[in-house]
Amino acid sequence: MEQHSQHFKENAARALADASAVAQRDILALFTPLMREAAVSEFGDFAALRDHVKKMRQHTLDNLDYYLARFELEATNNGNRIHYAETAEDMNSIVLDICQQHGARKVAKGKSMVTEETGLNDFLQRGGMEVLETDLGEYIVQQAGETPSHIVGPALHKTQQQIREQFLENHDLGERDLESIGDLVGEARTVLRDHFLEADVGIIGSNALIAENGYSMLVTNEGNGDLCANLPSVLIICTTLDRVLPRAEDATAIQRLLVRSATGQPQTCYTSFYSGPRRAQDADGPLETHIVLLDGQRTDILASDYSEMLRCIRCGSCLNHCPIFAATGGHSYGWVYPGPMGSVLTPLLTSLEASEALPNACTSCGRCEEVCPSAIPLPDMLRDLRHEQSVQKITPASWRNGLRLHAWIATRPRLYQALTGIGISLMHRLGGKKGGFSKLPLASGWTSKRDFPAPQGETFMRQYRRRSQSNER
Ligand code: SF4
Repeated sequence: MEQHSQHFKENAARALADASAVAQRDILALFTPLMREAAVSEFGDFAALRDHVKKMRQHTLDNLDYYLARFELEATNNGNRIHYAETAEDMNSIVLDICQQHGARKVAKGKSMVTEETGLNDFLQRGGMEVLETDLGEYIVQQAGETPSHIVGPALHKTQQQIREQFLENHDLGERDLESIGDLVGEARTVLRDHFLEADVGIIGSNALIAENGYSMLVTNEGNGDLCANLPSVLIICTTLDRVLPRAEDATAIQRLLVRSATGQPQTCYTSFYSGPRRAQDADGPLETHIVLLDGQRTDILASDYSEMLRCIRCGSCLNHCPIFAATGGHSYGWVYPGPMGSVLTPLLTSLEASEALPNACTSCGRCEEVCPSAIPLPDMLRDLRHEQSVQKITPASWRNGLRLHAWIATRPRLYQALTGIGISLMHRLGGKKGGFSKLPLASGWTSKRDFPAPQGETFMRQYRRRSQSNER
């Protein structure tokens, strides 16, 4: 997917100007955390499971070469063909080659953020394939010529009315009302059914690769992954090499965390394990299966200070709890991964320059880390990326010099307290009558939208000292 992260501020300003979209995001921001909270409180010892998964994921990443080799061995024994792709272009070429070897014309695809990352759909279409997304949300955004706005709910930015109008315009099915959500889902099912039956190749992603048996796990709510996997004669699983886990029970532990964190459900409608091509005794299934494992900078991340980011299980919970994501929406981030996880991943997978604003799109509230089922220290990583930007001189010189001056003063407590004391009392006098400032040097970003409140006249330290002394008396 083409990257527009460098335009985050303009994108965000545009998103904030659309009042009805803001209202819709506000409702989601209220609703989705409540669903997660209810699911977590019903679960029992969620914290213990989270701790277990964190350790298990970290152990796997620390021994990735071993578990990958084991997975490759077991999956090959099951009849799968394993392909390693170093770059996005490699993955796209491998998939197109497989399609062409089978004379394929039509591809049915399940939801896969990795293939969004590599731009697989465009690549296959340029290679002469017809590619249809079959996850309902992905189908809606593909038909609208858009990209997903959320890693779990790709079309969460769309209203029911917008989808209705889109279907009426795009599906040649005669007069109909499509008044209810049930009508819309029923129509999508009717349209997609033929595509499943006609597809030559099915492409899906993977939530976990199990080293001990060579299986791949996929969780979906619509069953479209199973139809993509079982109806076409060729199945291609596109994923990244950090998805590997040691045992089947580790995959189910991830599944329990993932589903509750993502949608607040106790269980997704479908959890499927794909072992390989159809065996003689099987009633159905693909005749040939391929697993394409993308590196795409993952080994670089593994070797960096940000290796913990590879524990991400793509649940979307950090997005649902982020005030910046709620305010600006997923498209503002300008690439595949939005929200806090995207603000860390995008600079690591693309470049720090091209995504300069993202590590700064953070209020440091810490909610993302609190709710992350893999306990990834996202706020620390965002801070480290900002530091990295400063070291690499990506941030403007005025900003860097200002911070340097602040650090110099802040590390001299007496000077800091004297200067802040003078500043606070001056601001109190100047803004006291009105109670705030509508304009303030160096704070135009704040005052362009709202007044800056006038301080009460004394610094915290001075008040603290005064109150301590009066308490002693
Ligand atoms: S960073 Fe954590 S909360 Fe965010 S998507 Fe990944 S696992 Fe989920």
